[in-house]
Amino acid sequence: MAGLKNDVGFSSINVTPDFKYAQNRYKAKKVRDYNMTHRVAVLDQDLCQPKKCGLECIKYCPVNKSGAECIVLNEESKKAQIDEDICNGCGICVKVCPFDAITIVNLASELATDKIHQYGANSFRLFKLPTPKKGGVVGLLGRNGMGKSTVVNILSGNLKPNLGRYENPPEWNEILKHYSGTELKQHFEKIEQKQIRASIKPQQIHHIAQAFDGTGKELLDKYDERGVSRELIKELGLENSMEQSLKELSGGELQRIAVAAATAKDAEFYFFDEPSSYNDVFQRTGVARVIQNLAKIGKSVMVVEHDLTLLDFLSDYIEVLYGEPGAYGIVSTILSTKIGINVFLDGYLPNENVRFRDKKFSFDVSSSTTDIFEEGNTIVTYPKLVKKYPTFSVTIEAGEVRKGEVLGIMGANALGKTTMMKMIAGVENPNSGSINKKIKIAYKPQYLQNDIDVEVISVLDKANGNPVEGSMEEEQILEPLKIKKLYNKSIKNLSGGELQKVAVASCLLQKVDLYALDEPSAFLDVEDRIAVAKFIQKFVRSFGKSAIIIDHDLQLMDLISDSIVIFEGESGVTGRATTPMRKAEAMNRFLKSLDMSFRRDERSLRPRVNKLESRLDKEQKTSGNFYYKH
Ligand code: ADP
Ligand code: ADP
Ligand code: MG
Repeated sequence: MAGLKNDVGFSSINVTPDFKYAQNRYKAKKVRDYNMTHRVAVLDQDLCQPKKCGLECIKYCPVNKSGAECIVLNEESKKAQIDEDICNGCGICVKVCPFDAITIVNLASELATDKIHQYGANSFRLFKLPTPKKGGVVGLLGRNGMGKSTVVNILSGNLKPNLGRYENPPEWNEILKHYSGTELKQHFEKIEQKQIRASIKPQQIHHIAQAFDGTGKELLDKYDERGVSRELIKELGLENSMEQSLKELSGGELQRIAVAAATAKDAEFYFFDEPSSYNDVFQRTGVARVIQNLAKIGKSVMVVEHDLTLLDFLSDYIEVLYGEPGAYGIVSTILSTKIGINVFLDGYLPNENVRFRDKKFSFDVSSSTTDIFEEGNTIVTYPKLVKKYPTFSVTIEAGEVRKGEVLGIMGANALGKTTMMKMIAGVENPNSGSINKKIKIAYKPQYLQNDIDVEVISVLDKANGNPVEGSMEEEQILEPLKIKKLYNKSIKNLSGGELQKVAVASCLLQKVDLYALDEPSAFLDVEDRIAVAKFIQKFVRSFGKSAIIIDHDLQLMDLISDSIVIFEGESGVTGRATTPMRKAEAMNRFLKSLDMSFRRDERSLRPRVNKLESRLDKEQKTSGNFYYKH
């Protein structure tokens, strides 16, 4: 009895309060978790391969160990399935998964009410929506996989938002209630009443060619509700492309015809999903002007674009999309173009107090303007080169590439840029002039072969000459380019951006003196473009190598080039290339031919495009300073 009494007494003094405390703490934690965070668990269905792993996520999950079923194998899909309600966010499954298939994120719980759409269990979800602006161009800026196309599909009425209830999607009256009191309510009312007139230029233009059996002219005639096809054909340089079947057109021609068709429709809302792909700088500028003209006549226009110069040039507002690619995306508040792009480069949204990248992208003036190269320290010298094809010829003035230097090549399409690179790389022989074959060159072609069923790792091993796993090159090249995660994917299953990064990495893995990269920005999102450009520059400089890069992204070329060759002439007929020029001189000449002027953003120091006919634009053009002074 005494013992019991003692026990009771003991417990009433010590154990019970402790126990109660623990219990309350547990409850409190639950309540706090519930109030503060909103768990997002996303599974990459392609990466999850339960047959090849030891089901580590299921084995090591502490919630599973405690007897609950947090991660299980879904019988139907044969993939892992995570219960977000009981997941404690420990992240052990993320670490133990050998294929990096799981993403777990804790989001502020107030976001839960901002969820617009979720595709399914453990799949991508979008929070908040941008608001279209009448008479203005709203640019959407963000990484791939953040939900830009999802936004376009929802706002154009092609995808009914489910507010996250993928199993039990709400009806329109509920959706409208959810948006009552917001600017978007009217927009959704119009969608519901099928009154919305939206026109979209989709991201994947090749689907248009597959779906439409006819010529460019026939396509444009079908959509020309505004009677503007003649002007559009002229502005977009499509005069010689209209009689061909869509299936025979080049990527650039098809893109511009798709832009023309979307523009010619009579709508209130216009959406352009990546309109610059495949086009050269001149064609991109033409596309930008056509899009801007829509806003000028009072239309609401939204554009998704990864070419920052173009986005800067054509947007009146920017909305940044941030989050975790493939897992979730959040739309920022609406910002001015200048602030929007700066915020994106900073990786920090002051209004939301959110840091979405741990470092900022900086534009260092000194490294881009001082001549750091010693005379005579050349990697390759080439004489005047001439190449003649039956219907095309190109003449290239003599030049050299120095150790540590990046030589940029710019110019319109079909002027012989790729031909020059191939001649230097020894893939094509010039008709006149010869190249010193002793230097070793690695070449990344413009068109990448993707129809091969080979694992990424074996392509990288081959380029490296040794297995890359655990190697120094892995640490130096593959980790910074974030390619490790792709090792076990097949080349044929990579997205365009992933394939491009693997191709760039395979080029840089080769032990050579000169790296020749033809359009490395193609298919890369805005963030990868900057990261890859900065990486190539650093790589070349720190290892005493050189690079020649062809690209149409002006911001990227400005960031990466030490000297520049400019191609001029008549596309598809004759090309002329200058000798390598100092960057400032070359950019000035190139911008002049584009009728575009640049200034530096006073805070981020990034190059900005002056709005056409603005005070600075006029002043700089009059004085001949198309490129900013430094
Ligand atoms: P972005 O245009 O920014 O690249 P998307 O809106 O196309 O992004 O896609 C965002 C994410 O949503 C991607 O991870 C994509 O795989 C996923 N997603 C898109 N459509 C679907 C769908 N119909 N079902 C499941 N997931 C989808
Ligand atoms: P760019 O890289 O500037 O777009 P290219 O060097 O690829 O230009 O091509 C320039 C011109 O040469 C194009 O009109 C193209 O059709 C033509 N051309 C390229 N390669 C060949 C070839 N092997 N045979 C015949 N014509 C070619
Ligand atoms: Mg997209």
